[in-house]
Amino acid sequence: MIIMKFGGTSVGDAERIRQVVEIVRGRLPRRPVVVVSAQAGVTNTLIQLAKSAVAGDTDTDLDGGALRERLASLIAELGLPDDLLEDEVDELSSLLKGITLVGDLTPRSLDRMMSFGERCSIRIVAAALDASGVPARPVRSYDLGLLTDSTYGGAEVLAESYERIPAEFAAQAFEDVVPVVTGFVARDEAGFITTLGRGGSDYSASIFGAALGADEIEIWTDVDGVMSADPRIVPESRTLERMSFKEAAELAYYGAKVIHPATIHPAVRQSIPIRVLNTYRPDAAGTLILAGAGARGGVRAIASKANITLVHVTSLRMLLQHGFMARLFAVFERHRVVIDMISTSEVSVSLTTDDDGQLAAAADELREFAEVRVEPQKAILCLVGEGLRDVPDVLERVFATLRREEIPVRVVSVGASRVNVSLLVDHADESRAVLCLHREFFDS
Ligand code: ASP
Ligand code: MG
Repeated sequence: MIIMKFGGTSVGDAERIRQVVEIVRGRLPRRPVVVVSAQAGVTNTLIQLAKSAVAGDTDTDLDGGALRERLASLIAELGLPDDLLEDEVDELSSLLKGITLVGDLTPRSLDRMMSFGERCSIRIVAAALDASGVPARPVRSYDLGLLTDSTYGGAEVLAESYERIPAEFAAQAFEDVVPVVTGFVARDEAGFITTLGRGGSDYSASIFGAALGADEIEIWTDVDGVMSADPRIVPESRTLERMSFKEAAELAYYGAKVIHPATIHPAVRQSIPIRVLNTYRPDAAGTLILAGAGARGGVRAIASKANITLVHVTSLRMLLQHGFMARLFAVFERHRVVIDMISTSEVSVSLTTDDDGQLAAAADELREFAEVRVEPQKAILCLVGEGLRDVPDVLERVFATLRREEIPVRVVSVGASRVNVSLLVDHADESRAVLCLHREFFDS
């Protein structure tokens, strides 16, 4: 059994969906369980609708008319019955009316709003498969045993899901029919709809893959796989044939947004391979992500993350006294500031954060016991490769290359992870640094 997850662009229009049908047909001997996202842009539209409804914004079509039209013409183009989504769309209209009347949008109602995207998508994709001679049945993830806690907008999967899903799956007899399951959405114990966080359909795919003991999880998207660098920065970047889970996790964190970081966990636990594939070029090999599949010892990919703020905390009195670090991090913890890189010296600590507005208050509190200097507009570069830490000349080559290009390095972090070397540079140097490092490590 395999999981085939199709993202928003892969089910975005009639031509794509026909392509999806053929791709699934070709995999029938492997007994696919299909997981789908909402059509590209639909989740955003639903959020917008909910926000307009709560604001009583009468300019926008409060009944979601434009969205209804989009889905209706998609259905028409695929030659599917026009009442295919009727009850879903009616429920959406009632919910919008309710939100307008109450004038309040709780995280719980927002999750219910967002769920319509995937709920409509499973019906469209299943009907398109069925109409093309591939028997298929739409299934809501929560009717297949997926249970979460009640953290609306980013719910946690309850462990019992991993027992409920295979039991439900067996009970619902999918021997001769392809289940088409909603990504992204789930339900809590009280029966309210929850969501797994934006981009969460990959996570769903991984959960179902782990629960059902899939041989492989295929993530069908609109690029050829995981690239050695962002192709907008490095035109000659290439698709990686294989990589390890650890490499993929590092890259996902640093913005190579091909797979959602959380996707990794359930699949890793069970060592289920994940293959990233391109719906536009189904015959391309894609990238295979396995436990420990990296070519050892070299740089495999270079990622970067902008809008990073560097914070220097200096305290002559207290650094290296026990409890100082705890006190420092307690402040960041209290203000929910997420720290990326850390480097320490005798009297100071330098940290980087992806500042989202919480930093100023944290810095003020730190100033009660330390000197604090904040430098915004930095970027983290991250070289990823299994075993990279142990390759002797990597740092030498990094520094020689950046020196040649006259790009100053502000902070370095090596060794915390076996697979990653991180550097902090000025934001203005970000693209140039990625480009010259890619040339250094990939062209020779
Ligand atoms: N439709 C959801 C979103 O746009 C989930 C997904 O596409 O993975 O975030
Ligand atoms: Mg996605």
